[in-house]
Amino acid sequence: MAFDVIVVGGGVMGCSIALCLAKRGVGTVVLERSVPGAEASTVAAGILAPLIEHGFAGPETRLGIASRERHAAWAASLHDALGIDVGFRRCGAMWAALDEAEAASLDARATRIAEAGGRVERLSPDDARRREPGLSPAVLGALDLPEEAQVEPTIFLRALALEAAREGVVFRTGEMVRRVLVEGGRARGVQLERGRLEAAHVVVAAGSWTSLVPGLPAPAAAVRPIRGQLVTCERRPLVARRVLFGAGGYIVPRPDGRVVCGATMEDKGFQKEVTLGGLAEVLSRALRLAPGLADAALLGHAVNFRPASPDTLPLVGPAGPEGLWLATGHHRNGILMAPLTAEIIADAITLTPSTLPDLPALDPRRFGASTTHPAEESP
Ligand SMILES: Cc1cc2nc3c(=O)[nH]c(=O)nc-3n(C[C@H](O)[C@H](O)[C@H](O)COP(=O)(O)OP(=O)(O)OC[C@H]3O[C@@H](n4cnc5c(N)ncnc54)[C@H](O)[C@@H]3O)c2cc1C
Repeated sequence: MAFDVIVVGGGVMGCSIALCLAKRGVGTVVLERSVPGAEASTVAAGILAPLIEHGFAGPETRLGIASRERHAAWAASLHDALGIDVGFRRCGAMWAALDEAEAASLDARATRIAEAGGRVERLSPDDARRREPGLSPAVLGALDLPEEAQVEPTIFLRALALEAAREGVVFRTGEMVRRVLVEGGRARGVQLERGRLEAAHVVVAAGSWTSLVPGLPAPAAAVRPIRGQLVTCERRPLVARRVLFGAGGYIVPRPDGRVVCGATMEDKGFQKEVTLGGLAEVLSRALRLAPGLADAALLGHAVNFRPASPDTLPLVGPAGPEGLWLATGHHRNGILMAPLTAEIIADAITLTPSTLPDLPALDPRRFGASTTHPAEESP
């Protein structure tokens, strides 16, 4: 079977890109060494909060807001097509100051968020606790951001893969890509365990493992894994309605009583351990933020790697050789950025003019040579 596009990696990026391409009639295959959603994309907390994450007028905030808004439409479309509720909720987020330094920074933070085009309300401690009674009595002030949202990553991934398959995407699971094939200055396909698969376009969306895929040009080496550990628990009555940030951590309340507490940020290479120190850090931050969680029942813990780039902006766009694309480096915001990333890559491959600003900021070639080094060209 011949394909127009090979997507390497079946995480949220690979599945979203494949779905977007298939909807435009592009024959697409996803090659995933495990199963769709096997890594970071189903461990993520599912926060869609560009204003909290970045909070200043810059490309990351503008693109994050644009992607957050696309999530609403994607959720509706997945629901219409499959009857699956992916858990998109405009629950809002609250940034809570629990020490003097954080409290002193609230006004400036609110100003920057407003300048970036976000809705934000500065709250006194009493108002913050009136809106979120589960918040610590030690809160010194807060910001309320009603536009921020959440989604359930495990259900989102399942729905994306199902819908992509329904639209004609072929998923080849257990398929390890051994090398990206670049010949004569353009992408030709990939080398698999058994044989090669050819296509005019190759999109590498291998998350934290992108820099380990042989045959990629220099920019891909910029991606490194940042370990994140988190804890899931269950609490009735609900501990909060909004996503709460503070004390260096966050809690994400689901409507059914589950709460995701996150998350460590550790530069430890590919060590996938859940550590006692990591869990202690996550739990102590969550309990400082919402002390009522002390009664919560532990449901589980998880760990995975955020694909990080040196300047914290993703690598989305041409990798150098013609027909070779990167969609990675989304770090803490890959779930948030998936719809927009998919649109950018699908526009580029189908030669659809994009009206999105800020795309040069994501150009993977900013990290190095624009072509494959001759020694790296496939034999
Ligand atoms: C603890 C934690 C909490 C997070 N919380 C949030 C959040 O609240 N909101 C948010 O927006 N983001 C969050 N993130 C970040 C988000 O999870 C990532 O940015 C996103 O999942 C990256 O998606 P991806 O598809 O690029 O990578 P992945 O999901 O890691 O997928 C990459 C896929 O490529 C496959 N692969 C790798 N190499 C090969 C190969 N050679 N051949 C074939 N297949 C290959 C892997 O098996 C994997 O399935 C969080 C991350 C962590 C770890």
